[in-house]
Amino acid sequence: MQKIQLSFLSLLLLLLVAWEQPQKRENPYGLKIVSGMSAYHQLVKENPSQNLVDLEITIKGLRLDIRYATTNNFTGQVIYPSPKAYLRLPAAEALAGIQRELKSIGLGLKIYDAYRPYAVTLKFFEVYPDTTFVASPLTGSKHNRGCAVDLTLIDLASGAEKEMPSTFDDFTEKASHSYRNASPAAIANRQLLREIMTKYGFLPYESEWWHYDFKDWKNYPIMDLSFNECANNKL
Ligand SMILES: [Zn+2]
Repeated sequence: MQKIQLSFLSLLLLLLVAWEQPQKRENPYGLKIVSGMSAYHQLVKENPSQNLVDLEITIKGLRLDIRYATTNNFTGQVIYPSPKAYLRLPAAEALAGIQRELKSIGLGLKIYDAYRPYAVTLKFFEVYPDTTFVASPLTGSKHNRGCAVDLTLIDLASGAEKEMPSTFDDFTEKASHSYRNASPAAIANRQLLREIMTKYGFLPYESEWWHYDFKDWKNYPIMDLSFNECANNKL
């Protein structure tokens, strides 16, 4: 009887180990991550606000400069296969409101980065393991949730970027909202971007003037859908 119980327990243990292992392989940090299109579609079916939308389609007149689709970024490598910007539906709608309001003063938005697959966050941390500027793989980035955006202001007519205290991904104190040693115009532009983003429900990140998190980011899980998966499914 005891033998039978023991074999039953061993079997149970084996089953548990077998069940645990694929999850661990996918995610060594114990994070809950949505990967694969069927998991994503299930999520959207349960709650349409989980939709990851293409910002170029949703926001009229939006400019993109997706640096991770070029070598002009801190890794020096092309990370994304295409220059695309995706955000969760409510965040995209909020950004569309900002673009509309900016238009009335002759300004617009230019996006450097939006949704970022979790696999890319792992790669960034390998290249630059400083959690002030690069998200820890332990928590993931709000970019992985389709709820963070890196952006700047442009003159709508010419497309020229407005002066800011630093360039995008300048990993120095110049990136901080508290950096005061910039021109008055740069400080005013940084402040204008902060005010309008905050008004529409985005939260500033004090260490990077270009990065904003959508306020409800906790409601959106981390995802590891590649850009190719997003493009093929016409999100
Ligand atoms: Zn960012």
